[in-house]
Amino acid sequence: MMLEKVPGTVYETSVNAIDGVTIAMARDDKEKFLVLTGNPASPVFQEFEGEILSGELKKAPLSAANAAALRKYFPWTAPISLRDRKTTIGCGDRLGLASVGHIAAIKHYQATPVLAQQSMRELDMTGRTYRQVVDDTVFMVYQAGYKEGYGADGDHLKKIKDIDVALAAGMPMITLDLSEVMLAAAGDWPQAQIDEAFAKLDANTRKALLDSYADKKIKVGDSEIDMDAATVRRCAVMYLQALDFAKEVYEHLKSKRGDKFDLEISIDETTSPTLPTHHYFIAGELQRRGVEFTSLAPRFIGEFQKAIDYIGDLAEFDRQFKVHADIARNCGGYKVSVHSGSDKFAVYPTVGSMTGMRLHLKTAGTSWLEAVRVIANHDPVLYRKMHKKALASFNDMLKLTADINKIGDVDAMADADLPALMEMAEARQLLHITYGPILRDPELRPLFFTAMHKFEKEYDETVRKHFDKHLSLLGVPKK
Ligand SMILES: [Zn+2]
Repeated sequence: MMLEKVPGTVYETSVNAIDGVTIAMARDDKEKFLVLTGNPASPVFQEFEGEILSGELKKAPLSAANAAALRKYFPWTAPISLRDRKTTIGCGDRLGLASVGHIAAIKHYQATPVLAQQSMRELDMTGRTYRQVVDDTVFMVYQAGYKEGYGADGDHLKKIKDIDVALAAGMPMITLDLSEVMLAAAGDWPQAQIDEAFAKLDANTRKALLDSYADKKIKVGDSEIDMDAATVRRCAVMYLQALDFAKEVYEHLKSKRGDKFDLEISIDETTSPTLPTHHYFIAGELQRRGVEFTSLAPRFIGEFQKAIDYIGDLAEFDRQFKVHADIARNCGGYKVSVHSGSDKFAVYPTVGSMTGMRLHLKTAGTSWLEAVRVIANHDPVLYRKMHKKALASFNDMLKLTADINKIGDVDAMADADLPALMEMAEARQLLHITYGPILRDPELRPLFFTAMHKFEKEYDETVRKHFDKHLSLLGVPKK
């Protein structure tokens, strides 16, 4: 071992040996890198690209080629299908920096992280590719020495060409967003219009659907689904086309990955909550088409706004969520998936207990907000710059319901008062939605990543703490 000669600090959890070559992650003041020591003639030593520092010591950058080499020699660094894992948590690391903190929390719980999880929109906002998202995760998994397996989710994908990009990057989970291919508007059509559209379907399809679902009281667990013929006709008009597309995507995934993938069906990005009858219809029709899916994300009642707790009637949420959980458990045993799930502490006890922990929970931007918290705590000058950029750009972003005027002027605030903004709903939402403009700003981007490198330990700890709160309130059993 020549690791004492490494020009930087080696992460103790990252030291592994293969074929007589020791490989570890290290950092100096500027960056992270890999170091290899061992026989320079060994194929392992040679396969990693980098710079020879002395005869038996190589410094290797965190490049795509070296991520591929890590996956080859240490297969536990590559993402896998999580079909057989009961509780999975989507981590959604927009920065390529949060996985170490996520792992530090989740390794104590009976749950598996989907460490890499990004939508096309997030890639666009952060200027990353699926390849980079996966590679960043590979390096952090290696750094943490986490060998329990993890997932990678091409999130909210709508087209096969985008799915192919995620698959090519080695992402085993695909979240198929059916919001555009389903006919959501038909949810509000008058019955006459529904009936007219339904009548255009071929006679066999109509008969099969009505025979399967109409005028039956169907017992699923403790719940009863009561579907009349009018509802069946409405579901057919709303979903059949989307379900056929789901079948096409499923066949595509199977041809590419055998059974080593997780398909999530997502209908959550619509305006009205998914009725239990509709959920039942969708699950039944996916199964009739032979589509094996790992999880399904309905749109739940109430508001799942970014960065803040659940807004809505908790008793009604509990009542409806119970039915969704009963359908998932009894109609195929897939996981209920809860999107925009970070910080929804008020509904966690229900979500955890009613699914019996057979669930997928997606968090996304919350690890970004924890990064902003670190900046607010340690670099007030940079925080104010980011805050002002957020104020200048939020109008171009998603609709914001929070009243920005409540936040106050950051220039008039003492440095010590800035971190408290991360507890304030309005400021949280403002900074949550403006990650794109902040990260793409040519001045702020390097300042931000330099600061994050400097405060790496603080960030790991704040993510760990925040995630631990999520897992414990959800009721995930400890290991
Ligand atoms: Zn979603």
